Amino acid sequence: MSESQATIPCPDCGQPLEVLQACGAKSYFCPHCNELKSKSRIEAPPAPSPSSD
Ligand SMILES: [Zn+2]
Repeated sequence: MSESQATIPCPDCGQPLEVLQACGAKSYFCPHCNELKSKSRIEAPPAPSPSSD
Protein backbone atom coordinates (compact mmCIF):
# COMPACT_ATOMS: atom_id res chain seq x y z
CA MET A 1 0.00 0.00 0.00
CA SER A 2 1.53 3.28 -1.05
CA GLU A 3 -1.56 5.43 -1.15
CA SER A 4 -1.02 8.72 0.56
CA GLN A 5 -4.50 10.02 -0.01
CA ALA A 6 -7.66 7.99 -0.01
CA THR A 7 -10.29 8.85 -2.53
CA ILE A 8 -13.87 8.77 -1.43
CA PRO A 9 -16.33 7.56 -4.03
CA CYS A 10 -19.60 9.38 -4.56
CA PRO A 11 -22.48 7.39 -3.05
CA ASP A 12 -24.56 8.21 -6.10
CA CYS A 13 -22.29 7.91 -9.13
CA GLY A 14 -19.11 6.36 -7.76
CA GLN A 15 -16.81 9.12 -9.01
CA PRO A 16 -14.14 10.38 -6.62
CA LEU A 17 -15.33 13.21 -4.44
CA GLU A 18 -13.48 16.42 -3.76
CA VAL A 19 -12.99 17.06 -0.08
CA LEU A 20 -13.46 20.68 0.85
CA GLN A 21 -12.23 21.72 4.23
CA ALA A 22 -13.46 24.94 5.75
CA CYS A 23 -12.93 25.94 9.36
CA GLY A 24 -12.37 22.33 10.37
CA ALA A 25 -15.60 21.15 8.81
CA LYS A 26 -15.37 18.84 5.85
CA SER A 27 -17.64 19.05 2.87
CA TYR A 28 -17.80 16.60 0.02
CA PHE A 29 -18.39 17.78 -3.49
CA CYS A 30 -19.01 15.57 -6.49
CA PRO A 31 -17.90 17.21 -9.75
CA HIS A 32 -19.84 14.57 -11.64
CA CYS A 33 -23.19 15.16 -9.89
CA ASN A 34 -22.17 18.81 -9.53
CA GLU A 35 -23.47 18.97 -5.98
CA LEU A 36 -22.42 18.70 -2.39
CA LYS A 37 -22.93 15.38 -0.68
CA SER A 38 -24.15 15.00 2.84
CA LYS A 39 -21.37 14.09 5.20
CA SER A 40 -23.54 11.51 6.92
CA ARG A 41 -24.03 9.70 3.64
CA ILE A 42 -20.31 9.65 2.93
CA GLU A 43 -19.05 8.54 6.30
CA ALA A 44 -21.87 6.20 7.22
CA PRO A 45 -21.14 2.52 6.78
CA PRO A 46 -22.79 0.84 3.83
CA ALA A 47 -26.33 -0.22 4.50
CA PRO A 48 -26.76 -3.95 4.94
CA SER A 49 -28.54 -5.54 2.06
CA PRO A 50 -32.06 -6.51 3.07
CA SER A 51 -32.74 -10.18 3.02
CA SER A 52 -35.81 -10.87 1.00
CA ASP A 53 -36.08 -14.45 1.86
ZN1 LIG B 1 -21.65 11.87 -7.88
